[in-house]
Amino acid sequence: MDHTQPKSERTTAVAPIPFDNSYARLPAHFLARVHPTPVAEPWLIKFNRPLAEELGLNADALERDGAQVFSGNSVPEGAEPLGMAYAGHQFGQFVPLLGDGRAILLGEVIDRNGVRRDIQLKGAGKTPYSRRGDGRAALGPVLREYIVSEAMHALGIPATRALAAVVTGEPVYRERVLPGAVFTRVAASHIRVGTFQFLAARGDTEGVKTLADYVIDRHYPQIKGQERPYLALLETVAERQAALIARWLGVGFIHGVMNTDNCAISGETIDFGPCAFLDAYDPAKVFSSIDQGGRYAYASQPAIGQWNLARLAETLLPLLDPEPSEAVNLANDVIAGYGPRFQTHWLAGMKAKIGLIGEEDGDLDLVQGLLRQMKEGQADFTLTFRRLADVAESDTAEHAFAATFSDPTALGPWLAEWRARLSREAQATPRERAQAMRLVNPAYIPRNHRIEQAIRAAEDDGDFSLFEALLSVLAKPYEEQPGFSAYAAPPAPAEEVFRTFCGT
Ligand code: AMP
Ligand code: MG
Repeated sequence: MDHTQPKSERTTAVAPIPFDNSYARLPAHFLARVHPTPVAEPWLIKFNRPLAEELGLNADALERDGAQVFSGNSVPEGAEPLGMAYAGHQFGQFVPLLGDGRAILLGEVIDRNGVRRDIQLKGAGKTPYSRRGDGRAALGPVLREYIVSEAMHALGIPATRALAAVVTGEPVYRERVLPGAVFTRVAASHIRVGTFQFLAARGDTEGVKTLADYVIDRHYPQIKGQERPYLALLETVAERQAALIARWLGVGFIHGVMNTDNCAISGETIDFGPCAFLDAYDPAKVFSSIDQGGRYAYASQPAIGQWNLARLAETLLPLLDPEPSEAVNLANDVIAGYGPRFQTHWLAGMKAKIGLIGEEDGDLDLVQGLLRQMKEGQADFTLTFRRLADVAESDTAEHAFAATFSDPTALGPWLAEWRARLSREAQATPRERAQAMRLVNPAYIPRNHRIEQAIRAAEDDGDFSLFEALLSVLAKPYEEQPGFSAYAAPPAPAEEVFRTFCGT
């Protein structure tokens, strides 16, 4: 561990946080106790007051002391800062020890709904897991994670949340010199598939059991006392991941680095470094500069979810059944069941997107027919569905809908089929149907070029107004916001983003 830099001291002078820590009570090898490394000149860029209130924190005091607390310069009383140990398959390659190399868990709080939540500083200095990294984060990735976390939440998709962002007043050295920043993240927990893999890879079956029991207690108490609780845990995680990834596909989200260490057991979207959203629909789309083989392409995400689930299952084998072959059979059944689970969630989501409630044999074909046309016509994913809601309300909207396709006349036959199918739907007036569709088809998503523009202005000019504007539009993604229609538009050719970077 690097002791060359001073570590922050505990102080009671700053805003108190009612910590109630449990991860710090787990066996010593699960974690490393480490204090944040103070920074030169912290300045609070953004504080999420509503989230602080939801967490039961003293928002006034935190707003006042935010620069100190959210930089890690002052560690509030009751915090037990630590880095979590984890392993992970990175692009398919197993790494037995990764761990929080630049993230420090301050502690946990119980929120207003009685849910235990982690408060973690990302970019707060080196930890014993930093390897060759500097333990720091650059401003750009911090703003990106802030925007996308809150946008996902507003879209109704489980994700870690953004509590605060601070600039450090110190440079970080990447390909270029960049302003340093610290991101404060809130999660139901930061336990990953890789956390289980870390213990399993050490042959620490007792540790795997301790972690599994902890996870059941914390996230899935309903399965406690079941005859096969660890099998139920695997099934529950399968269900959460299937549901989550179906939601991602429904808004055109590409995570970018679905390594097992970036796959949260809670079912929250986590660690979306080089994530991006589809503009034109293309199932093979990849943005991340480090994903050269396209392993984590848009349409590959469900299969990767299953692959990650299989890695979790491997760690649980000794707990599933004393008879190894029976344990493997049980695990295989869950892994095989993931496909149908995903398909059910995905189809339900896609049907809702095109305004269907009832069930007919041809529904899947109808959805796939539209997606085929979208791919051929390079139609903007978000606009297509949003405008289809307008068509559901009035035929006069058909022109604008068709204009999202390179050949506006190509959609005629599909629209005819869709209308015929709608005519067999129960009740719903055109207006009601359109409104239901607008509740599942966002007008606003965090478009890559908008994020890029917000980061550019902040990095180059210290101008956070675009960041603020974007956050405010994305807080109500399903509502038409007069005056902000430009935020619904795809990029102009010169604005298009082709590559995204982790920024680590
Ligand atoms: P990520 O790509 O952010 O999911 O990180 C993968 C692994 O690299 C994790 O173990 C991180 O803690 C570690 N890591 C990433 N960036 C840094 C950094 N700047 N300093 C130390 N460790 C890092
Ligand atoms: Mg990660």
